[in-house]
Amino acid sequence: MKRTVAYLRNSSDLQENSLGLQRAKIKEFSLFKGLPINHFFIDENVSASKKRLNQRPAMSKLFEEIKQNQIETLIVYKRDRLARRSKEYMEMYFFFKKHNVQVLFAADSEFPMLYTNIGEFIELIMSGLVEHEVIQLKERLSNTQSSNFENKGTLGTLPYGYIKSNDYKNQNDLKDKIILINDELEIVKEIYNLILSRKYETLNDLRNFINKSGYRTRNNKKWTSNGIKNMLSNPIYSGMRVRRFQGIPKYQSTPHTKIIEKEKWEAAIEIMEQMSRKKVLSNKSKQIFLLDGLITCSTCMKQFQGKVRKNNGIDTPKYVCECKRHSLIKEEIEQFVFNQAIIFFESLMAENLAEITKRFLKQKKSAHTTEINLMNSERKKLENKQMELTKKFINIKKKEEKIKLKHEIIELQGLVNVKDLEIELFEEEYRNEVSLIDRILNNSVTYKAIPFRYEKTFFPQLQHLLHDIVLTIKITNNAVDIMFKHPFQDMKGETRSLKMI
Ligand SMILES: [Zn+2]
Repeated sequence: MKRTVAYLRNSSDLQENSLGLQRAKIKEFSLFKGLPINHFFIDENVSASKKRLNQRPAMSKLFEEIKQNQIETLIVYKRDRLARRSKEYMEMYFFFKKHNVQVLFAADSEFPMLYTNIGEFIELIMSGLVEHEVIQLKERLSNTQSSNFENKGTLGTLPYGYIKSNDYKNQNDLKDKIILINDELEIVKEIYNLILSRKYETLNDLRNFINKSGYRTRNNKKWTSNGIKNMLSNPIYSGMRVRRFQGIPKYQSTPHTKIIEKEKWEAAIEIMEQMSRKKVLSNKSKQIFLLDGLITCSTCMKQFQGKVRKNNGIDTPKYVCECKRHSLIKEEIEQFVFNQAIIFFESLMAENLAEITKRFLKQKKSAHTTEINLMNSERKKLENKQMELTKKFINIKKKEEKIKLKHEIIELQGLVNVKDLEIELFEEEYRNEVSLIDRILNNSVTYKAIPFRYEKTFFPQLQHLLHDIVLTIKITNNAVDIMFKHPFQDMKGETRSLKMI
C-alpha cells in the first residue's frame, strides 16, 4: 500500500524551524488536505549543509522506501529541510520525480513542487537560491520587519478563550498582553476532552452534542464544525503562538496561554483529522468548490463557504460570506481565478524568466571561475615544484639522491594528472548544468502554463493546483484581490495582486 509520510529535520543551531514547530505545521496542513500521515521520518540535529545524504539516517531510510515504491506523498515543512546544497537538492528533485512521489510543503508561502518543464526550471533556480545567501538575508530582513511589527503591538486575532489587553479601555499598562478568559477556556478544555474520549465519530456529531449541551460562542451563537476545527487546531492552547507575517508563519512560545499538554493537543488534532475525513467521504458526491477555504471577506474577516442557493428559482452554487454582504457565483469567481492563474504563470515566465536566468547564470559563472582559478593555481604550484626538483635532479650526482628525487617527481606528476582530471570533471559538470538550463528554457517556449481546462472533469486536479498556488483571495466591496504564491518572492519581495470588477 502506498503511504503518505512526512520528513522533518532540524540542526542544533536553528531555533525557528524546531521539530515541534515543523510537526505542528505539518499536522495542521495534513488536516487541511485530509491526508493522514502514516509515518514521520525525523533527522534530529543534522545540518543539511554539512552532512551528505548518507549521513542522515531518516532520509536514507525514506529513500529506501521510495525506491521500493512504497511512498505516494511526502510532506515537508519547507524546501530547505530537504537540502541546502543545490546539487544535492536537484538530485532529490529528480529522484522524487522518477519515483512519482508527490512532494507537498506545509509552509504557506512555499511554492509547490511541480514535475513539469517550468517546474523543473523553477526548482533549479530555487535550489540556487536555497543554497545562496539571498534567502538567509531576506529571512533576516523579514525577521527584523516582523519584530518591528510585534513592537507596534499588533497581536493579530486571538481565538476563543483569549483577549487582547488593548481591547480593554484605558489600561495602557496592560497594552499588548494576552489575557485569558477562564470561562471560555474551560469550554475549550471540555471540547478537547470530548475529542480525546473518541466518543464521537464525526465532527458534526461532536458539534451537535456541544450545541445541545448549551455551549455557545462568544457572540452567543451555536458552534459550527469548521469553527470547532479551526479553533482547536490553533497551537496557542498548547502554549505556542503562530503569527503570519507576509504569509510566512512565525512561531513563538507563550507558556502562559497553555491549557493542554503538547502531546494531548497533537493527539486531539489527529483524532479530529479522522473525524473530519469521515465527513469529507460522505460529502464526496456533492459539488466541488475549487476555492473552498481560500476566499476571505474584508468586511467581517471570515471565510466564504460554498453553498447551493436559489437564483431566480434555479439552484445555483455560490460562495457566500457569513456577514451576508457578499456572495459570488461559483462558476464566475472560479473561472476568473483560473484565468488569472494562467496569466500569472505566463507573466511569471515573461517578466522574470530572462532576468532570473541571467542572474542565475552569472552567479554560476562567477562561482565556476573562482573554483577553476583555484584549481589551476594549485596545479601550477605542483608543476613549479616538479620543475624545481627536475633541475635539482639534473645537477645532483649522487645516485641514491637521484633515485629519491625521481620518485618524488613521478609522484608529483601523478598529483598533476589527478588535478587535470578534477578540472575536467568540474568543467563537464558546469557544462551539463548550463545546458540543462538551455534545454528547459527552449522547452518552456511551447510549455502550456496549466495543463487543465476549467471543466468538471478536471475539478479535482484544479482544486489541488489552485490550493497550491493561491495564497489568498480577499473580497472587498468593489474588488477581488488574488495573491499568488510567488516562487521568486524572496528575490522580488512581493506577492502579486490582481483585481477584478
Ligand atoms: Zn463578510
